[in-house]
Amino acid sequence: MSLPNGSSAPPKKLTILGATGSIGRSTEAVILGAPGAFETLAVAGGSDAKNLARVAKSLSAKFAVLADPDRYAELKAELSGSGVEAAAGLEAMKEAARQPADLVVGAIAGAAGVRPTYAAVEAGRTVALANKECLVCAGDPFMRTAREKGATVLPMDSEHNAIFQALGGEGADRIEKMWLTASGGPFRTWSAEEIAAATPEQALAHPNWAMGPKVTVDSASLMNKGLELIEALHIFGVAAEKLDVLVHPQSIVHGLVSFADGAVTAGMAVPDMKVPIAHCLAFPERVATEARRLDLAQIGSLTFEKPDLARFPALRVAKAALAAGGAMPTILNAANEMMVAAFLEKRISFNEIAEHVEAICELFEAEGAAGTPPDIEAALAVDHIVRERSRARLAGLGR
Ligand code: MG
Repeated sequence: MSLPNGSSAPPKKLTILGATGSIGRSTEAVILGAPGAFETLAVAGGSDAKNLARVAKSLSAKFAVLADPDRYAELKAELSGSGVEAAAGLEAMKEAARQPADLVVGAIAGAAGVRPTYAAVEAGRTVALANKECLVCAGDPFMRTAREKGATVLPMDSEHNAIFQALGGEGADRIEKMWLTASGGPFRTWSAEEIAAATPEQALAHPNWAMGPKVTVDSASLMNKGLELIEALHIFGVAAEKLDVLVHPQSIVHGLVSFADGAVTAGMAVPDMKVPIAHCLAFPERVATEARRLDLAQIGSLTFEKPDLARFPALRVAKAALAAGGAMPTILNAANEMMVAAFLEKRISFNEIAEHVEAICELFEAEGAAGTPPDIEAALAVDHIVRERSRARLAGLGR
Protein backbone atom coordinates (compact mmCIF):
# COMPACT_ATOMS: atom_id res chain seq x y z
CA MET A 1 0.00 0.00 0.00
CA SER A 2 1.28 3.47 -0.81
CA LEU A 3 0.00 6.43 1.14
CA PRO A 4 -0.31 9.97 -0.21
CA ASN A 5 2.79 10.98 1.78
CA GLY A 6 4.82 8.58 -0.36
CA SER A 7 5.55 6.11 2.42
CA SER A 8 4.09 2.68 2.96
CA ALA A 9 4.40 2.89 6.76
CA PRO A 10 1.20 2.91 8.81
CA PRO A 11 0.22 6.35 10.13
CA LYS A 12 2.05 7.41 13.27
CA LYS A 13 -0.28 7.69 16.27
CA LEU A 14 -0.17 11.07 18.02
CA THR A 15 -1.48 12.63 21.20
CA ILE A 16 -1.35 16.43 21.39
CA LEU A 17 -1.20 18.00 24.84
CA GLY A 18 -1.76 21.72 24.31
CA ALA A 19 -3.71 21.47 21.06
CA THR A 20 -5.33 24.91 21.24
CA GLY A 21 -2.26 27.09 21.75
CA SER A 22 0.21 28.52 19.28
CA ILE A 23 2.29 25.29 18.98
CA GLY A 24 -0.91 23.24 18.85
CA ARG A 25 -2.20 25.21 15.87
CA SER A 26 1.09 24.80 14.00
CA THR A 27 1.06 21.06 14.85
CA GLU A 28 -2.45 20.81 13.41
CA ALA A 29 -1.24 22.53 10.20
CA VAL A 30 1.68 20.08 9.84
CA ILE A 31 -0.61 17.07 10.35
CA LEU A 32 -3.21 18.33 7.85
CA GLY A 33 -0.40 19.07 5.39
CA ALA A 34 0.83 15.46 5.47
CA PRO A 35 -2.26 13.33 4.73
CA GLY A 36 -1.88 9.68 5.68
CA ALA A 37 1.26 10.24 7.78
CA PHE A 38 -0.42 10.71 11.17
CA GLU A 39 -3.42 9.54 13.15
CA THR A 40 -4.51 11.61 16.15
CA LEU A 41 -5.58 9.65 19.22
CA ALA A 42 -6.17 12.41 21.75
CA VAL A 43 -6.08 16.19 21.89
CA ALA A 44 -5.91 18.12 25.17
CA GLY A 45 -6.31 21.79 26.03
CA GLY A 46 -6.71 24.11 29.00
CA SER A 47 -10.13 25.73 29.12
CA ASP A 48 -11.02 26.66 25.53
CA ALA A 49 -13.78 24.12 24.85
CA LYS A 50 -14.84 25.57 21.52
CA ASN A 51 -11.33 25.53 20.05
CA LEU A 52 -10.51 22.09 21.43
CA ALA A 53 -13.69 20.67 19.89
CA ARG A 54 -12.78 22.30 16.59
CA VAL A 55 -9.27 20.81 16.50
CA ALA A 56 -10.54 17.39 17.68
CA LYS A 57 -12.96 17.31 14.73
CA SER A 58 -10.42 18.73 12.29
CA LEU A 59 -7.92 15.96 13.17
CA SER A 60 -10.57 13.21 13.69
CA ALA A 61 -9.25 12.57 17.21
CA LYS A 62 -10.81 9.85 19.35
CA PHE A 63 -10.58 11.80 22.64
CA ALA A 64 -10.68 15.47 23.56
CA VAL A 65 -9.70 16.44 27.10
CA LEU A 66 -9.87 19.80 28.86
CA ALA A 67 -7.83 20.55 31.97
CA ASP A 68 -10.64 22.73 33.34
CA PRO A 69 -13.41 20.42 34.69
CA ASP A 70 -15.90 23.32 34.78
CA ARG A 71 -15.91 23.37 30.96
CA TYR A 72 -16.76 19.68 30.54
CA ALA A 73 -20.44 20.27 29.70
CA GLU A 74 -19.50 22.88 27.11
CA LEU A 75 -16.96 20.53 25.51
CA LYS A 76 -19.47 17.67 25.45
CA ALA A 77 -22.07 19.91 23.79
CA GLU A 78 -19.54 21.13 21.21
CA LEU A 79 -18.64 17.52 20.37
CA SER A 80 -22.15 16.10 20.28
CA GLY A 81 -22.68 13.91 17.22
CA SER A 82 -19.00 14.03 16.25
CA GLY A 83 -18.04 10.65 17.72
CA VAL A 84 -15.20 12.29 19.68
CA GLU A 85 -15.21 11.30 23.34
CA ALA A 86 -15.02 14.21 25.83
CA ALA A 87 -13.32 14.26 29.23
CA ALA A 88 -12.00 16.88 31.67
CA GLY A 89 -9.76 17.32 34.69
CA LEU A 90 -6.15 16.51 35.58
CA GLU A 91 -6.64 12.72 35.80
CA ALA A 92 -8.20 12.72 32.32
CA MET A 93 -5.27 14.80 31.03
CA LYS A 94 -2.82 12.25 32.44
CA GLU A 95 -4.90 9.42 30.97
CA ALA A 96 -4.71 11.09 27.54
CA ALA A 97 -0.93 11.43 27.96
CA ARG A 98 -0.61 7.70 28.71
CA GLN A 99 -2.59 6.62 25.60
CA PRO A 100 -0.56 4.21 23.47
CA ALA A 101 0.61 6.88 21.04
CA ASP A 102 3.84 6.62 19.06
CA LEU A 103 4.49 10.27 19.94
CA VAL A 104 3.08 12.68 22.52
CA VAL A 105 3.38 16.39 21.74
CA GLY A 106 3.97 18.24 25.03
CA ALA A 107 2.89 21.78 24.17
CA ILE A 108 0.80 22.88 27.17
CA ALA A 109 2.01 26.36 28.17
CA GLY A 110 3.32 26.98 31.68
CA ALA A 111 3.55 24.94 34.88
CA ALA A 112 0.14 23.38 34.04
CA GLY A 113 2.01 21.28 31.48
CA VAL A 114 4.32 19.53 33.95
CA ARG A 115 2.06 16.80 35.40
CA PRO A 116 0.40 15.68 32.12
CA THR A 117 3.72 15.65 30.21
CA TYR A 118 5.38 13.81 33.09
CA ALA A 119 2.62 11.17 32.88
CA ALA A 120 3.63 10.54 29.25
CA VAL A 121 7.30 10.19 30.22
CA GLU A 122 6.40 7.87 33.12
CA ALA A 123 4.51 5.70 30.63
CA GLY A 124 7.69 5.48 28.54
CA ARG A 125 6.26 7.43 25.59
CA THR A 126 8.32 9.37 23.10
CA VAL A 127 7.63 13.03 23.88
CA ALA A 128 8.14 15.98 21.53
CA LEU A 129 8.68 18.66 24.13
CA ALA A 130 7.65 22.28 23.62
CA ASN A 131 6.67 22.96 27.25
CA LYS A 132 9.58 24.77 28.95
CA GLU A 133 8.53 24.17 32.56
CA CYS A 134 9.10 20.39 32.43
CA LEU A 135 12.81 21.13 32.11
CA VAL A 136 13.15 24.57 33.72
CA CYS A 137 10.95 23.89 36.76
CA ALA A 138 11.52 20.14 37.12
CA GLY A 139 14.43 19.27 34.82
CA ASP A 140 16.33 16.88 37.09
CA PRO A 141 13.42 14.61 38.08
CA PHE A 142 11.83 14.88 34.60
CA MET A 143 14.91 13.69 32.71
CA ARG A 144 15.80 11.10 35.36
CA THR A 145 12.36 9.52 34.95
CA ALA A 146 12.70 9.65 31.15
CA ARG A 147 15.98 7.69 31.43
CA GLU A 148 14.50 5.20 33.91
CA LYS A 149 11.38 4.57 31.85
CA GLY A 150 13.12 4.54 28.47
CA ALA A 151 11.14 7.57 27.27
CA THR A 152 12.70 9.58 24.44
CA VAL A 153 12.48 13.37 24.70
CA LEU A 154 12.65 15.14 21.33
CA PRO A 155 13.22 18.91 21.49
CA MET A 156 10.51 20.83 19.67
CA ASP A 157 11.63 24.35 20.54
CA SER A 158 13.29 25.83 17.44
CA GLU A 159 16.75 26.37 19.00
CA HIS A 160 17.01 22.96 20.66
CA ASN A 161 15.60 21.24 17.61
CA ALA A 162 18.19 22.97 15.42
CA ILE A 163 20.96 21.80 17.79
CA PHE A 164 19.51 18.28 17.87
CA GLN A 165 19.68 18.21 14.07
CA ALA A 166 23.17 19.82 14.05
CA LEU A 167 24.42 17.16 16.50
CA GLY A 168 23.53 14.36 14.12
CA GLY A 169 23.52 11.81 16.93
CA GLU A 170 26.91 12.74 18.45
CA GLY A 171 27.02 12.47 22.24
CA ALA A 172 27.41 15.22 24.85
CA ASP A 173 31.02 14.16 25.57
CA ARG A 174 32.05 15.28 22.08
CA ILE A 175 30.59 18.78 22.42
CA GLU A 176 33.00 21.60 23.07
CA LYS A 177 30.47 24.41 23.00
CA MET A 178 26.80 24.95 22.20
CA TRP A 179 25.15 28.23 21.21
CA LEU A 180 21.49 29.07 21.14
CA THR A 181 20.66 32.10 19.05
CA ALA A 182 18.33 34.94 20.04
CA SER A 183 16.79 37.41 17.64
CA GLY A 184 17.45 40.10 20.25
CA GLY A 185 13.74 40.94 20.29
CA PRO A 186 12.15 44.34 19.71
CA PHE A 187 14.58 46.16 22.07
CA ARG A 188 17.87 44.90 20.58
CA THR A 189 19.01 48.37 19.52
CA TRP A 190 17.27 50.36 22.29
CA SER A 191 19.15 52.23 25.03
CA ALA A 192 18.85 51.09 28.67
CA GLU A 193 16.60 54.14 29.36
CA GLU A 194 14.28 53.32 26.47
CA ILE A 195 14.08 49.67 27.55
CA ALA A 196 13.25 50.69 31.15
CA ALA A 197 10.25 52.67 29.89
CA ALA A 198 9.01 50.02 27.43
CA THR A 199 5.28 49.31 27.42
CA PRO A 200 3.61 45.88 27.14
CA GLU A 201 2.51 46.82 23.61
CA GLN A 202 6.14 47.48 22.61
CA ALA A 203 7.36 44.27 24.29
CA LEU A 204 4.70 42.26 22.46
CA ALA A 205 5.81 43.47 19.01
CA HIS A 206 8.32 40.68 18.22
CA PRO A 207 10.16 41.19 14.92
CA ASN A 208 10.43 37.55 13.75
CA TRP A 209 8.29 35.07 15.68
CA ALA A 210 4.56 34.91 16.38
CA MET A 211 4.16 33.44 19.91
CA GLY A 212 2.02 33.70 23.03
CA PRO A 213 2.30 36.91 25.17
CA LYS A 214 4.40 35.45 28.05
CA VAL A 215 7.13 34.02 25.82
CA THR A 216 7.09 37.18 23.67
CA VAL A 217 7.84 39.35 26.73
CA ASP A 218 10.54 36.84 27.72
CA SER A 219 12.02 37.20 24.24
CA ALA A 220 12.14 40.98 24.63
CA SER A 221 13.99 40.70 27.97
CA LEU A 222 16.15 37.74 26.77
CA MET A 223 14.86 35.76 29.78
CA ASN A 224 13.51 33.32 27.22
CA LYS A 225 17.05 32.56 26.08
CA GLY A 226 18.15 32.05 29.68
CA LEU A 227 15.31 29.56 30.21
CA GLU A 228 16.33 27.84 26.97
CA LEU A 229 19.93 27.47 28.23
CA ILE A 230 18.51 25.63 31.23
CA GLU A 231 16.44 23.43 28.90
CA ALA A 232 19.53 22.69 26.79
CA LEU A 233 21.50 21.59 29.85
CA HIS A 234 18.86 18.94 30.60
CA ILE A 235 18.06 17.84 27.03
CA PHE A 236 21.62 17.46 25.83
CA GLY A 237 23.32 16.69 29.16
CA VAL A 238 26.04 19.31 28.66
CA ALA A 239 27.69 21.33 31.41
CA ALA A 240 26.47 24.89 32.05
CA GLU A 241 29.82 26.43 31.09
CA LYS A 242 29.63 24.95 27.58
CA LEU A 243 26.34 26.75 26.89
CA ASP A 244 26.07 30.26 25.50
CA VAL A 245 23.88 32.69 23.58
CA LEU A 246 24.51 34.53 20.32
CA VAL A 247 22.27 37.37 19.19
CA HIS A 248 21.33 36.82 15.55
CA PRO A 249 18.68 39.28 14.37
CA GLN A 250 17.75 37.41 11.17
CA SER A 251 16.59 34.27 13.12
CA ILE A 252 17.87 31.89 10.41
CA VAL A 253 20.58 30.02 12.33
CA HIS A 254 18.78 28.71 15.43
CA GLY A 255 21.57 26.79 17.15
CA LEU A 256 25.24 25.83 16.71
CA VAL A 257 27.54 23.17 18.10
CA SER A 258 31.35 23.05 18.04
CA PHE A 259 33.49 19.96 18.49
CA ALA A 260 37.04 19.24 19.69
CA ASP A 261 38.44 19.29 16.14
CA GLY A 262 37.18 22.85 15.55
CA ALA A 263 34.25 21.83 13.35
CA VAL A 264 31.02 23.78 13.88
CA THR A 265 27.61 22.57 12.74
CA ALA A 266 24.52 24.77 12.70
CA GLY A 267 20.77 24.22 12.33
CA MET A 268 19.10 26.63 9.93
CA ALA A 269 15.59 27.30 8.67
CA VAL A 270 13.20 30.19 8.16
CA PRO A 271 11.62 31.22 11.50
CA ASP A 272 8.52 29.04 11.25
CA MET A 273 7.59 26.62 14.06
CA LYS A 274 6.19 24.19 11.48
CA VAL A 275 9.80 23.22 10.65
CA PRO A 276 10.87 21.90 14.10
CA ILE A 277 7.35 20.54 14.71
CA ALA A 278 7.44 18.52 11.47
CA HIS A 279 10.92 17.25 12.35
CA CYS A 280 9.73 15.96 15.72
CA LEU A 281 6.46 14.52 14.42
CA ALA A 282 8.15 12.53 11.65
CA PHE A 283 11.46 11.70 13.38
CA PRO A 284 13.47 9.73 12.31
CA GLU A 285 11.64 10.16 8.97
CA ARG A 286 10.77 13.49 7.34
CA VAL A 287 7.47 14.92 6.09
CA ALA A 288 6.95 17.79 3.68
CA THR A 289 5.69 21.12 5.02
CA GLU A 290 4.50 24.27 3.35
CA ALA A 291 7.01 26.36 5.32
CA ARG A 292 8.68 29.01 3.21
CA ARG A 293 12.04 27.79 1.86
CA LEU A 294 15.24 29.41 3.01
CA ASP A 295 16.72 31.68 0.33
CA LEU A 296 20.15 32.69 1.64
CA ALA A 297 21.07 34.64 -1.50
CA GLN A 298 17.98 36.76 -1.04
CA ILE A 299 18.72 37.32 2.69
CA GLY A 300 22.31 38.21 1.73
CA SER A 301 23.96 38.49 5.13
CA LEU A 302 23.62 36.82 8.50
CA THR A 303 24.97 38.76 11.48
CA PHE A 304 25.89 37.73 15.02
CA GLU A 305 26.66 39.70 18.17
CA LYS A 306 27.26 39.11 21.87
CA PRO A 307 24.23 39.62 24.11
CA ASP A 308 24.51 42.82 26.18
CA LEU A 309 23.99 41.66 29.77
CA ALA A 310 23.91 45.26 31.04
CA ARG A 311 20.91 46.22 28.91
CA PHE A 312 19.37 42.74 29.24
CA PRO A 313 19.94 41.80 32.91
CA ALA A 314 17.31 39.02 32.75
CA LEU A 315 19.81 36.90 30.80
CA ARG A 316 22.50 37.56 33.43
CA VAL A 317 20.10 36.53 36.21
CA ALA A 318 19.09 33.38 34.28
CA LYS A 319 22.72 32.43 33.63
CA ALA A 320 23.42 32.71 37.37
CA ALA A 321 20.47 30.37 38.06
CA LEU A 322 21.76 27.96 35.40
CA ALA A 323 25.21 27.91 37.04
CA ALA A 324 23.74 27.55 40.55
CA GLY A 325 21.49 24.60 39.58
CA GLY A 326 19.44 22.93 42.31
CA ALA A 327 16.05 24.62 42.70
CA MET A 328 17.36 27.95 41.42
CA PRO A 329 15.99 27.48 37.88
CA THR A 330 12.60 26.51 39.42
CA ILE A 331 12.64 29.69 41.52
CA LEU A 332 13.77 31.85 38.59
CA ASN A 333 11.03 30.53 36.33
CA ALA A 334 8.15 30.92 38.80
CA ALA A 335 9.23 34.43 39.85
CA ASN A 336 9.64 35.46 36.22
CA GLU A 337 6.19 34.20 35.23
CA MET A 338 4.61 36.22 38.05
CA MET A 339 6.59 39.35 37.20
CA VAL A 340 5.82 39.11 33.46
CA ALA A 341 2.12 38.87 34.32
CA ALA A 342 2.48 41.94 36.56
CA PHE A 343 4.24 43.80 33.73
CA LEU A 344 1.47 42.90 31.29
CA GLU A 345 -1.03 44.24 33.85
CA LYS A 346 1.08 47.42 34.01
CA ARG A 347 1.79 46.95 37.72
CA ILE A 348 5.58 46.99 37.25
CA SER A 349 7.89 48.43 34.60
CA PHE A 350 9.84 46.33 32.11
CA ASN A 351 13.20 46.58 33.90
CA GLU A 352 11.55 45.75 37.22
CA ILE A 353 10.83 42.22 35.91
CA ALA A 354 14.51 41.21 36.16
CA GLU A 355 15.05 43.24 39.36
CA HIS A 356 12.27 41.42 41.23
CA VAL A 357 13.24 38.03 39.82
CA GLU A 358 16.84 38.50 40.96
CA ALA A 359 15.74 39.70 44.41
CA ILE A 360 13.49 36.65 44.86
CA CYS A 361 16.27 34.26 43.75
CA GLU A 362 18.62 35.88 46.28
CA LEU A 363 16.00 35.62 49.00
CA PHE A 364 15.59 31.85 48.55
CA GLU A 365 19.33 31.36 48.30
CA ALA A 366 19.89 33.30 51.54
CA GLU A 367 17.28 31.12 53.24
CA GLY A 368 19.05 27.98 52.05
CA ALA A 369 15.87 26.93 50.27
CA ALA A 370 17.35 26.19 46.85
CA GLY A 371 18.28 22.50 47.07
CA THR A 372 17.49 20.18 44.14
CA PRO A 373 13.81 19.06 44.22
CA PRO A 374 13.83 15.23 44.42
CA ASP A 375 10.68 14.74 42.31
CA ILE A 376 8.23 16.74 40.22
CA GLU A 377 5.80 17.25 43.11
CA ALA A 378 8.62 18.81 45.16
CA ALA A 379 9.55 21.03 42.18
CA LEU A 380 5.92 22.11 41.79
CA ALA A 381 5.75 22.82 45.54
CA VAL A 382 8.75 25.16 45.21
CA ASP A 383 7.06 26.75 42.19
CA HIS A 384 3.92 27.31 44.30
CA ILE A 385 5.81 28.88 47.21
CA VAL A 386 7.72 31.21 44.88
CA ARG A 387 4.46 32.35 43.29
CA GLU A 388 2.99 33.12 46.71
CA ARG A 389 6.09 35.07 47.72
CA SER A 390 6.03 36.93 44.41
CA ARG A 391 2.36 37.78 44.91
CA ALA A 392 3.10 39.12 48.40
CA ARG A 393 6.00 41.14 47.04
CA LEU A 394 3.81 42.67 44.35
CA ALA A 395 1.04 43.41 46.88
CA GLY A 396 3.68 45.14 49.04
CA LEU A 397 4.41 47.52 46.17
CA GLY A 398 0.89 48.88 46.55
CA ARG A 399 0.28 48.83 42.79
MG1 MG B 1 12.75 29.16 21.35
